[in-house]
Amino acid sequence: MQRFQNYIGGTFRDGDTWFESVDPSTGEAWAQIPAASQADVDQAVMAADKAFNSPEWASLTATARGKLLYRLADLIAENAPGLAELETRDTGKIIRETSAQIAYVADYYRYYAGLADKIEGAHLPIDKPDMEVWLRREPVGVVAAIVPWNSQLFLSAVKIGPALAAGCTVVLKASEEAPAPMLEFARIFHKAGFPEGVLNVLTGGPDVGAALTRHERIAHVAFTGGPETARHIVRNSAENLASTSLELGGKSPFIVFEDADLDSAVNAQVSGIFAASGQSCVAGSRLVVQASIKDAVLDRLRQKAESVVIGAPDEMATEVGPLCTQRQQNWAAELVTRSQAQGAQLITGGQPLDRAGFYFPPTILDCSRARDADCLTHEFFGPVLSVVSFETEDEAIAIANDTRFGLASGVFTQNLTRAHRMVRSIRAGIVWVNTYRAVSPIAPFGGHGLSGHGREGGLQAALDYTKIKSVWLRTSDDPIPDPFVMR
Ligand code: NAD
Repeated sequence: MQRFQNYIGGTFRDGDTWFESVDPSTGEAWAQIPAASQADVDQAVMAADKAFNSPEWASLTATARGKLLYRLADLIAENAPGLAELETRDTGKIIRETSAQIAYVADYYRYYAGLADKIEGAHLPIDKPDMEVWLRREPVGVVAAIVPWNSQLFLSAVKIGPALAAGCTVVLKASEEAPAPMLEFARIFHKAGFPEGVLNVLTGGPDVGAALTRHERIAHVAFTGGPETARHIVRNSAENLASTSLELGGKSPFIVFEDADLDSAVNAQVSGIFAASGQSCVAGSRLVVQASIKDAVLDRLRQKAESVVIGAPDEMATEVGPLCTQRQQNWAAELVTRSQAQGAQLITGGQPLDRAGFYFPPTILDCSRARDADCLTHEFFGPVLSVVSFETEDEAIAIANDTRFGLASGVFTQNLTRAHRMVRSIRAGIVWVNTYRAVSPIAPFGGHGLSGHGREGGLQAALDYTKIKSVWLRTSDDPIPDPFVMR
């Protein structure tokens, strides 16, 4: 079995104990992973703290930090095929998707490399004579980054990139479900030449996450995962009063009007819910379709769902691979069964495939007569589409907003004025119009409500890793008068 190591203070370390990582396409263990101990967490945070205050890192110019990030980006691009294979092996995400995504991850690091020396302070036109006041933007401190198992090289790039560009240092905890790609990433990072301790990578479960996020030297927690875990993290941050950014789940509406280009809408919906086997926070998991075209759209979706190539994730021909874990597979099956009992009508799919590995077929549930079914409110994080129909635009908006999540949304219409009205009315961090699932390092990404707060990507993300220092400088040579002498 392949063995991986944690990365602490610039050195690679075995664990005192080990656990196994499972290949989702077979259900067999394939790698040994070191479980980080509480002492490992403490050492990693202290190494990051030391690096944060060291002249090797703190005295580097922003331009020099940017150059290191460019070097890291080049190394990621060079190593992208190996990283993609590893992510596919450990998470079951198909090789077509991991190859494209990891090649793009290098561009995320390039974007933040370029931003490093564009994080500017400001000068204030202060309301007092003989006084200069300006603002310095300084790095916030040691960052705890916590990622889930899906798309972790990407989800860590949107934390590590802006944090290092701003001058912070990072301790990243990979998910215990599929940590191999992040531990391999640490090996690549090591070659880029950053001072030791600037990035530390370890793994383990909730106890490791809890020790990390409540550590007294942590200034900011950047978290991606589920809302329930986020609640633990917010409670933990009451210990150190760290700021938090939370990228959580979704139940995103995908709205199709009768005037839409149906071929495009159906293709976007298929990739919006079945890509990554639905294990995507922005999955368009609620199809909100105008009643007049519902049957036509459902018919096309069913045909697509039943003809996708389900297979081994490492084969280029595969279009839908396994879910990452047995737990995910069980949860999808349970939620489908429960929703059927609540009146949802199963159009296709519905139960795990009878083969080794954690395969679950593309599934469609018609909830038009079961508006209270759990499948409309609970995140599957699997390839399951729940469908509701509407008659009017106002009804479409009401259904779209009938959720405690607020991450993404899609609108398909050829009507320009309606498109603008929908953009204004939908409560979500992202609205895609006549497209879906497009991302870029330049565009902010994030949600509100149960989908969290804070934004990743774009300039604001780098600013969020800084704090403002106000500087007052008196320019008069006149002595400051004695305050206790009455005049
Ligand atoms: P999860 O919340 O179970 O775990 C996420 C991470 O948190 C893991 O590394 C885990 O070990 C850690 N963790 C668990 N308990 C902790 C604790 N008490 N303190 C600190 N850390 C702890 O999520 P998951 O099942 O791995 O991932 C799926 C979830 O992630 C879904 O809800 C999905 O929508 C969400 N997600 C969101 C985005 C986004 O950008 N908005 C992207 C991908 C995934």
